[in-house]
Amino acid sequence: SYIDRIEAVDTKLDAFLTKTFDLAKKNAKESEERILKGETLSVLDGIPYALKDNMCTKDIRTTCSSKLLDNFIPPYSATVYKKLQKSGAVLLGKVDMDEFAMGSSNENSAYHIVKNPWDTSRVPGGSSGACAVSVSAGEAAFSLGSDTGGSIRTPAAFCGVTGLKPTYGRVSRYGLVAFASSLDQIGPFGKDIKDVASVLNVIAGHDENDSTSMKVDVPDYTSFLSEDIKGMKVGVDYALLDENKIDKDVVYNIRKAIDKFKEMGAEIVDISFDCFDYAIPVYYLISSSEASSNLSRFDGIRYGVREEGETLEDIIINSRTKGFGEEVKRRILLGTYALSAGYYDMYYNKALKVRKLIKDLYNDIFKKCDIVLTPTTPGEAFKIGEKTTDQTQMYLADIFTVTANLVGIPAASIPCGMSENGMPIGLQISANVFDEGKIIKAAYNYQ
Ligand code: GLN
Repeated sequence: SYIDRIEAVDTKLDAFLTKTFDLAKKNAKESEERILKGETLSVLDGIPYALKDNMCTKDIRTTCSSKLLDNFIPPYSATVYKKLQKSGAVLLGKVDMDEFAMGSSNENSAYHIVKNPWDTSRVPGGSSGACAVSVSAGEAAFSLGSDTGGSIRTPAAFCGVTGLKPTYGRVSRYGLVAFASSLDQIGPFGKDIKDVASVLNVIAGHDENDSTSMKVDVPDYTSFLSEDIKGMKVGVDYALLDENKIDKDVVYNIRKAIDKFKEMGAEIVDISFDCFDYAIPVYYLISSSEASSNLSRFDGIRYGVREEGETLEDIIINSRTKGFGEEVKRRILLGTYALSAGYYDMYYNKALKVRKLIKDLYNDIFKKCDIVLTPTTPGEAFKIGEKTTDQTQMYLADIFTVTANLVGIPAASIPCGMSENGMPIGLQISANVFDEGKIIKAAYNYQ
């Protein structure tokens, strides 16, 4: 039925880049046999899902939505994909994204403009836009995306689904094509927090192939799906909820959500985020610096599409010139500049210092609070094309999401009402490192 659904709606939404229906039918048949015998492999056995196209899948094309990787078939699989296969989950296909995960609207894909299922003239958010679309439109029961500065949470908010960026190091990044290695994290999308917790149970944990994955026990995340958040300390910075700075529909719905937390017995703690003015510049400097280094491997020699040229240097230049899109080139230039001798201390090193200050601020906040509530985005899903000519406006859409990556904490976006235009609004719930359980508990009680 999921395949039928994809056939029926994806011509309008354009979420899928590579469909793996033959494999899905074979895997579903095997699951069915196991289920009939009462020998299921996990709660995900037989459950159909979609993967963002920056996670390597052995023998299945993995493009990162880039022309440069148009023909790339990985010889190995990402750890998360291996874990999902072992759990019996059924891969339906690889879905679109902003090229190399750089973007907030999914408009930077070399393939499609993915549409928001609530209003197809609007963006689904990015960079894991199609992951959110696939769940929102009923094309997949869940999906896995990656989040470097909001790429799971923004699309979840824009498409009215739940998305969780786990703690940095909670989920293995082995086989995830790197964007900014100190910020990247894989996480699940689901229709609600229960589905997200069930998927997190399967993908979380240490992996010897990823030295940044942490050796911290994985609790049963579904055990946090219990009623009652009485006495939970919930941090709120009311100064952020200002109609002069962000959309009034966002302010209204977030305030309503905070009231509901109060009614449920949570204790609201006043906090102050003095860091938001610095968050965007620090994030774009650090992420672009890391990207400029990570993307140097795409030279047309080792991976992907190779353009012609007389010398080795010409081949590399031509492959990168034709293979990369505008936004990717912009980030490589910005990162290379920030890392260059003479500017390193002025930009990159300074950004690292401010990152440490932001981390200290969050440490203090989590001494006083169990969770923190903010909007996920400053506004509803915008119209396709609305922000493509003004990069600063596009980058500012990440104002509430980037700090979680800079600090390494987990954060989720859950649906919390609608705008006047009938578009979903997202509530962001953050917690201290490895406190995904508190987010799950709060979200479960709220939803
Ligand atoms: N929008 C942010 C960027 O363009 C975040 C992307 C992400 O999380 N992958 O860098």
